[in-house]
Amino acid sequence: MDTSLYKGIHVYCETKGDRVIDNSLELLGEAAMLKEKMGQDTVVTAVIIGDDVEKHVETLARHGADKVVVVEDEKYSVYRPDYYAEALAKVADEYKPEIVLVGATHKGEEIGPTAAKILDTGMAAHCVELNIREDGEFLQVVPAFGGKVLGDILCPKHRPQMASMKAGLADKVIFEGKEAEVERFNPEVTGYGDKIEVIEVIEDTTERVSLSNAELIVAGGFGIGTQEGWDKLEKLAKLLHGATGCTRPALDEGWTEREETMVGTSGVAIKPKVYIGFGISGAAHHTCGIKGAGTIISVNRDKDAPIFDVSDYKVVSDWEKIVDALIEKLSE
Ligand SMILES: Cc1cc2nc3c(=O)[nH]c(=O)nc-3n(C[C@H](O)[C@H](O)[C@H](O)COP(=O)(O)OP(=O)(O)OC[C@H]3O[C@@H](n4cnc5c(N)ncnc54)[C@H](O)[C@@H]3O)c2cc1C
Repeated sequence: MDTSLYKGIHVYCETKGDRVIDNSLELLGEAAMLKEKMGQDTVVTAVIIGDDVEKHVETLARHGADKVVVVEDEKYSVYRPDYYAEALAKVADEYKPEIVLVGATHKGEEIGPTAAKILDTGMAAHCVELNIREDGEFLQVVPAFGGKVLGDILCPKHRPQMASMKAGLADKVIFEGKEAEVERFNPEVTGYGDKIEVIEVIEDTTERVSLSNAELIVAGGFGIGTQEGWDKLEKLAKLLHGATGCTRPALDEGWTEREETMVGTSGVAIKPKVYIGFGISGAAHHTCGIKGAGTIISVNRDKDAPIFDVSDYKVVSDWEKIVDALIEKLSE
């Protein structure tokens, strides 16, 4: 493969409802940082796919896109991983970017690797850092062994070099007044054809503060013990105008069905001003996701729980006593 034919950075920009998700805007900021190291002639291209998405061009330019490739068609009105992945791969095949960045979201985790397979290249998933080495190689840093070890990944022989990153790890950058060149591209996409049938679309209408925007996060772990206990945590989060986060066991127990609120290596990285964790032991898989939190408060009945090693305030107590007292006081 002649790698010299590949230039620039593509950022797949995901939409939810009527907006571009924060994770994608953060990745545009990350691409702008990489551009500074690769040279100012590097073009950052936002790739947006949907049935009514050209309206987002201004937002994408304002967050760093020099160019926007708009793939717009009715067939993208309902999310289908096969269509979206094939479209993303065809855009890369046409424009030949050196790097493709995708958010490590539920959709991104389907679209990114599928597109990588179509393009016969590799993909570094869940990167915690991206950089350009002095020799010009694109460095993709991923955690291993629960975040205890960081591995450097390079993709020297194949293009594009693809990487995914979770929300909250990169910073958005605002480029006031910036405009982007727009190109419409509508490749032939067949996906898996009629092997996939969309039966019904159920919108999530629950109104909750999202983890990425929350200034305060109430997190619960296996120590919460029951669904009734979990409901108390949700109540506390509401009273504090915060969001609820969970550990893997709390999710596995089914106390919350919201997988996107799992914090840690395989979940999201969070940056609230305040994190209050109840009944959480402090496994590295979880704590690597709370490093960006301002103040960490932990409640655990075990005085030796590892979570206390990374906490600013440590409360050795049964979680329920503290939550009940807070709910009572806040309800006043
Ligand atoms: C590849 C891999 C990826 C993973 N990714 C993630 C991830 O992204 N996020 C994640 O969270 N986990 C992840 N895990 C799981 C992780 O290793 C831990 O098992 C998990 O974080 C532990 O969750 P926990 O603290 O809720 O449960 P436990 O470790 O069981 O801890 C429960 C805690 O509650 C305390 N407790 C019990 N009762 C009470 C009470 N009444 N009052 C106060 N405290 C009480 C206990 O003292 C204990 O410290 C991953 C694991 C693997 C192998």
